[in-house]
Amino acid sequence: MNTSVLSIQNLVKHYGNIKALDGISYDIPKGSVYGILGPNGSGKTTTLGIVLNVLNQTSGSYLWFGKPDDTTTRKQIGSLLETPNFYHYLSAVDNLKITQAISRRGNKEDIDKVLDIVNLSQRKNSKFSTYSLGMKQRLAIAAALLGNPEVLVFDEPTNGLDPVGIAEIRELIKKLAQNGTTIIMASHLLDEVEKVCTHVAIMKKGTLLTAGSVNEVLVNEDIVEVSSENLIQLADVVKNYTGVLQLKQEQNKLQLYFKIGTSNLTDINNYCFKNGITLNLLTIKRKSLEAKFFELTNN
Ligand code: ATP
Repeated sequence: MNTSVLSIQNLVKHYGNIKALDGISYDIPKGSVYGILGPNGSGKTTTLGIVLNVLNQTSGSYLWFGKPDDTTTRKQIGSLLETPNFYHYLSAVDNLKITQAISRRGNKEDIDKVLDIVNLSQRKNSKFSTYSLGMKQRLAIAAALLGNPEVLVFDEPTNGLDPVGIAEIRELIKKLAQNGTTIIMASHLLDEVEKVCTHVAIMKKGTLLTAGSVNEVLVNEDIVEVSSENLIQLADVVKNYTGVLQLKQEQNKLQLYFKIGTSNLTDINNYCFKNGITLNLLTIKRKSLEAKFFELTNN
């Protein structure tokens, strides 16, 4: 069974001499919140434009739900590439009626449903012009939700919002994901991807640096390095120390992996001493998400 919602295969896009995408491939699993992460100009919007069929690729292909793009699959995808042009003098309800008439997605009842999901029911009859930026963005998401699509595609969904607006959109994305919707979102914010996404593809200058689950890709742990005269004996002792997630040998030392912030050097030292071992090395290397991200993007 193919559980990929979107499969991108060797996509290349040239704008004249500019190579915006240089052969990228990855799969987006069903039910994931998939972050496409990268600095400005790395090719995120180009990727989304191609898979949403608003841009033509130079070469390569992509499959939605294991099939080539067609109008049936398109109905299962809601997208928000840029803020839609809502009418300023009309209410949210009237704006969504117009969107629905154009897109032919869902039915009348859907309008109240999507306004409820994005928490705009109370203000549904207010004019669009009276909305805050955050409310405007939520209305745009409501428009993408019409017809109850299986997949939502967002380009930088929190761009330009204040902290409250950002938090509301992130909560909304999590809520949508909990209901089983697959969400694909471009972001240049590591912090956002870490907070919201289950999976990530990291891009740089049109290439894919790495892709996978956030936990796998953005290692978030303390690495404690220890050594003593007898490494075998040391390994035997420390493997039973509480909280050790993984034990690796690196030349003449051992690396103990802990969940970030949970390692305690004094306690490790005491534990080894009680078990008959004198350590001649005890240091911690903390690899934050940020460090990992910079390591990936600067290399
Ligand atoms: P941003 O976050 O700034 O939108 P991005 O990661 O989405 O960046 P893209 O917008 O996909 O990146 O751009 C990738 C590269 O392609 C950049 O070098 C950009 O300048 C170039 N590019 C994008 N659109 C065009 C275009 N219409 N004509 C020429 N070059 C383009």
